[in-house]
Amino acid sequence: MPLETLRKALSIWPTTQDADLVQLREAFSGIVSADFEQVDFLNIPDGGRWGIVSKPLASDSRAVFLVYPTGSDTPNLAVLVLEPGGWRLQSLKFQCPGCFGTGELTGRSIEENQPCYLCGATGWGAS
Ligand SMILES: [Zn+2]
Repeated sequence: MPLETLRKALSIWPTTQDADLVQLREAFSGIVSADFEQVDFLNIPDGGRWGIVSKPLASDSRAVFLVYPTGSDTPNLAVLVLEPGGWRLQSLKFQCPGCFGTGELTGRSIEENQPCYLCGATGWGAS
């Protein structure tokens, strides 16, 4: 189940940016996907711990959850993928509160939409 994998990952998620990447890779083996980017480990929750706030938006092989640090209103997006060994966390990234991940700030009409300056139009960005 993707939720169990996500809970496991969040329960051992680093709380400081100086965590040892070699140890992290070991601790998270079997929890993160083959293409997980280690830079996501630098995404440290402001409030100390993560809280899962949404039900998964899931397909057969991919599940997406909205996750907030406890005591913070910064939305983050957790993406899980189904690999041969089971569900794995593929990414946990800050979700831009300006454009909600679209990369565009909505104008009054589609012609007035502008690239989001808060996240450099990436939508998920690096915090
Ligand atoms: Zn944005």
